[in-house]
Amino acid sequence: MTSRYFEDAVPYLVAPDELSSFTAGEPSYRAEQLRDWLYRTPVLDVEQMTNLPASVRERIGPNLFPFAVEAEQVADSGRTRKWLFRAGDGVAIEAVLMGYPERATLCVSSQAGCALACTFCATGQFGFQRHLEAGEIVAQVAYARAFLRQVGMPNTPDRLTNLVFMGMGEPLANYRRVREALRRIIDIGGMSARAVTVSTVGVVPGMLALADEPWQVNLAVSLHAADDELRSRLVPLNRRYPLAEVERAAANYFAKKRRRVSIEWTMMAGVNDDLGQADKLAQIAQRLRAHVNLIPLNPTPMSSETASSPTAIRAFLDRLTSLGVKVTVRDTRGKDIDAACGQLAASRL
Ligand code: SAH
Repeated sequence: MTSRYFEDAVPYLVAPDELSSFTAGEPSYRAEQLRDWLYRTPVLDVEQMTNLPASVRERIGPNLFPFAVEAEQVADSGRTRKWLFRAGDGVAIEAVLMGYPERATLCVSSQAGCALACTFCATGQFGFQRHLEAGEIVAQVAYARAFLRQVGMPNTPDRLTNLVFMGMGEPLANYRRVREALRRIIDIGGMSARAVTVSTVGVVPGMLALADEPWQVNLAVSLHAADDELRSRLVPLNRRYPLAEVERAAANYFAKKRRRVSIEWTMMAGVNDDLGQADKLAQIAQRLRAHVNLIPLNPTPMSSETASSPTAIRAFLDRLTSLGVKVTVRDTRGKDIDAACGQLAASRL
């Protein structure tokens, strides 16, 4: 059977220990050299794999990445960059790289689209297309790492310091492939697990499974509401995995990993920014010893919600702080290029 996107001709879509298919007729260390180029010191162009013979480079040709770079948008004086990658079967994959003086953070997609339909999220509004392959996730990381080293961003380290699964899709609904991507990124690529954050809207089985994996990755839980009535309206998945179950799975994660879980809360005017919600959220955060991350809503094409006012955000933050909860407000990079939280919905482009 012909594969959907000619996997066997694209190195990132081949398992890292099966790369000898690209080095046939060459000594076995060639496959290891290729693996290092893909996972340890990634490059933007196969011609930069200087220690590989031309015959091997030719076999890879223009198919180094499992996607074409269709568009690139830049904001924040060159320190936010959004890539629109086009996969072999035509689906769009978006990733956003954010540079800071002391870190460089990449936000990757784990699915093309999303089936979970959170009301305020652009990806959810455009529906689900398919899961991304492990190699398609790893290739987003490799591309950004190569970009930082070979092109660079102003006033930003030349290596990727942080990775967040907060782009399109629900990573824990694509568990097997996300797990394999983590294995390649951490165990083969050498990235520190503690620099990786998986964000979930509360896929409880995935949260429980992740707690039993060998890596100390961070878990972020997108809560947005502190009672089931409101949460089920904003996050339909809450009807399947209600708050108490999500909280229990988050507590289990903290207990097993001793990694502080973070709670994400997208702030919507008149919806979830009242002090009643703050009080209930504080109780959950206290029990979990979680850190709360407030995200001012970014407008999306089809949502009716609007962003909380700075005054409302301040009051909400002050209330949480006064109740002893650690809170930060997320800075919204890339708003003007639709690269901010919840705005990635590449199918529309
Ligand atoms: N499915 C995962 C990861 C992707 S979303 C999850 O839900 O956690 C990453 C974060 O952006 C989540 O906290 C999500 O709730 C938030 N988000 C989604 N839409 C948003 C919007 N329009 N404005 C601000 N944040 C949004």
